[in-house]
Amino acid sequence: MSASIHDTLRTVFGFHAFRPPQQEVIERVIGGEDVFLVMPTGGGKSLCYQVPALHRRGVAIVVSPLIALMKDQVDGLLANGVAAACLNSTLVPAEARSVFQRWDAGELDLLYVAPERLLMADFLERLAAVPLALFAIDEAHCISQWGHDFRPEYTQLGRLRELFPDVPLVAMTATADPETRRDILRQLGIQGAKVYVAGFDRPNITYNVLPKQKPFVQLEAFLRNRRDEAGIVYALSRKRVEEVAQRLRDAGFSARAYHAGLPDRERQQVQEAFRRDDLRIVVATVAFGMGIDKPNVRYVVHYDLPKSVESYYQETGRAGRDGLPSEALLLFGMGDVMTARSLIENSENPERVRIELQKLNAMVAYAEALTCRRRALLGYFGEQRDHECGNCDICNDPPERFDASEAVRKVLSCVYRVGERFGARHVIDVLRGSKGQRIAELRHDRLSTYGIGADLSGEEWDNIIRQLIHLGYLTQDFSRYGVLGLTPAARPVLKGEVAVLLGRPRSTARVEERSRSRSRGVKESRGGLFEVLRALRKRIADEAGVPPFVVFSDATL
Ligand code: ADP
Ligand code: MG
Repeated sequence: MSASIHDTLRTVFGFHAFRPPQQEVIERVIGGEDVFLVMPTGGGKSLCYQVPALHRRGVAIVVSPLIALMKDQVDGLLANGVAAACLNSTLVPAEARSVFQRWDAGELDLLYVAPERLLMADFLERLAAVPLALFAIDEAHCISQWGHDFRPEYTQLGRLRELFPDVPLVAMTATADPETRRDILRQLGIQGAKVYVAGFDRPNITYNVLPKQKPFVQLEAFLRNRRDEAGIVYALSRKRVEEVAQRLRDAGFSARAYHAGLPDRERQQVQEAFRRDDLRIVVATVAFGMGIDKPNVRYVVHYDLPKSVESYYQETGRAGRDGLPSEALLLFGMGDVMTARSLIENSENPERVRIELQKLNAMVAYAEALTCRRRALLGYFGEQRDHECGNCDICNDPPERFDASEAVRKVLSCVYRVGERFGARHVIDVLRGSKGQRIAELRHDRLSTYGIGADLSGEEWDNIIRQLIHLGYLTQDFSRYGVLGLTPAARPVLKGEVAVLLGRPRSTARVEERSRSRSRGVKESRGGLFEVLRALRKRIADEAGVPPFVVFSDATL
């Protein structure tokens, strides 16, 4: 079998080798298993269902939300000599009839359909009557309210698993938020699916976070030696975008503003000038970027805090498409957290508020992290890393490390003892021997860890737990009130086989930090700011009804 999928790869698609994890995914799907693929756009998800479609009997049904995408895929397949077709609202009845005829004659390998079409009664009857190779669900995040592009017509797709229990299902998305992913698995009824998360690392991008002090001065310092390079500066509001662009021009930079409030023509001009390298810097709101595919963007600066780790990843990902070294700089300040929070709280929908506060919370945790930025970022998407990147701000100027093995063992065994059923706040209460009522209600034999951590403050335990989440020893499930769980990496630590070094919080280690070459003379003081932020984050979490921790890595997703 393995040889023949390579033949298919070569002869049909014209490629010489699979990318990880294509081959493994393809083999599983051919074997009839469900798979959930989380890979960035361009990662190569399509092959993961297209090759199995050619190796399994029957037609592969591909659900895709956008007619334009469907058409591109089908045209590409036809060009490779694959029998593919699509059914959507743009077809005239005669065209649709012809597709059905080819299907009935067993001539089709892949059929692309819109989700609303798939679940029409007549179509379902048809599906039940013919052999099906597989279901592929592209843009699977559309099924989740947690995702950024919820589509009601996707929610019915959960029925596929019930109606066709034996047909393998391949769900795909590039939108990788862990919460959304859990929800997708649940909604599609494929909790047993093997989850693949791959390809999120952008090794040529260097990640840096600076405490925001005098942002324009910091920006100017950053740009001083980059006058001739192309870059994007993201800011939160249209007003700020205009203002920063103007100040940059006043300082002699080639900069223009871009936001949704500008006339179409002006926006096109900016985009075009940037593309042709006639313009160096675009100062923009998040409205800029969807359509641009400029290879030589050398840096992306976040003048204000992005609203989620996904947005941050998407936006920084616009740098360095050509593979050359590029930089991501985030200016991170407390005021932004408050602004973001009040914007979120303007929403009428309490569920939306809860979701967005959590996302903001994760973003703040990333910015505050004492662990390698790349590792934290990839961990957020579920890609485990066991080494530091060596070129982010944390790696370049690491916080003081201390052997925290003993404290770590206490936390891990406490999480274990309480049956991996409680959130951080409760675990800390148990560790510190709190007299709270919930704890008293627990059975005595579960509480052998009661009070073993009275030597550290709640704040210190909080910090340790957060680092353990970032480092991938603990998981936190927000779909279940932030319950902490152990990852496989926790086992050797519990057994005392490996030591764990943690970063000493900079707030206590050193308040004033020396200026760094990258910031070109701008003084930073992490400490005080971070302490205030921590308190603030706690408040956000309290109000959102969740503990002040985020999922930064998760062994299963
Ligand atoms: P995604 O759906 O994940 O965004 P695609 O499936 O559209 O990505 O693939 C992105 C690009 O990568 C396409 O041009 C595709 O032909 C190419 N590609 C995919 N797999 C391979 C491979 N194994 N070798 C070479 N090119 C590949
Ligand atoms: Mg795709």
